[in-house]
Amino acid sequence: MPRVCLVCGKVLEAEEEHLCAACWKDLPRTRYWKLRENPMAEGFNALIQRNMGENVQYQPYGYAAALYFYKGGYREISKALKYKRNFAVGRCFGKLLGQTLKESDLFRDVDLVVPIPLHWTRRWRRGYNQAEVIAWEVARELGARCEPRLLQRARHTRTQTHLNAEGRAQNVAGAFRVNARDWRRLIKQKPASPRHYLLIDDVFTTGATAAACERAIREALRTAISARNSINASRIRISVATLACVEH
Ligand SMILES: [Zn+2]
Repeated sequence: MPRVCLVCGKVLEAEEEHLCAACWKDLPRTRYWKLRENPMAEGFNALIQRNMGENVQYQPYGYAAALYFYKGGYREISKALKYKRNFAVGRCFGKLLGQTLKESDLFRDVDLVVPIPLHWTRRWRRGYNQAEVIAWEVARELGARCEPRLLQRARHTRTQTHLNAEGRAQNVAGAFRVNARDWRRLIKQKPASPRHYLLIDDVFTTGATAAACERAIREALRTAISARNSINASRIRISVATLACVEH
């Protein structure tokens, strides 16, 4: 089988990896990593605000960025990682995402990287979590710690593919929790527990899943504060980065 471009199907030259030179050049980069406010960040923060409800308190704005727009043939990149066990493409684009974030004023101080988990039954069937493949590469580039088991799915959720924004938010509400043992270790970390958390996923659609994860971490922070651990939640930022995002 000849190696072909994931996007256009053209046979690759020896020096080309995953994409042909023309498709690499045309990668529809979002440039969101340069913009504190962008459609992805606005969607993410609007959901966080809604999740807070009455419980309003100051917390830093969550940054959000994706490497490229999820459109046309470029959808095949995350599909190759998610459904075809193409780890090499996941590592390649994860590394590129990490390098891009490191160049960004918004993300270079990230000190903790957390992949968004699959439910264990889905992970067991698939054998891996595609977000974790990306997260390890991003953490390495940023010089940050990676905690792949910090978040857990508390319950199974339906596939989000055919749900609208409201349906997605309801589907994932309360679906995540923080793993108590990893969490205790993390908040007691010396010299300081992490300040800038970065959630990682393959594709960002409405942000409902990322916002549900943000909420699980904020709840764990509240519990940690009431247990008199020396952390200041109003200084902890929780951001999100993905390989791709749907254009809004
Ligand atoms: Zn191509």
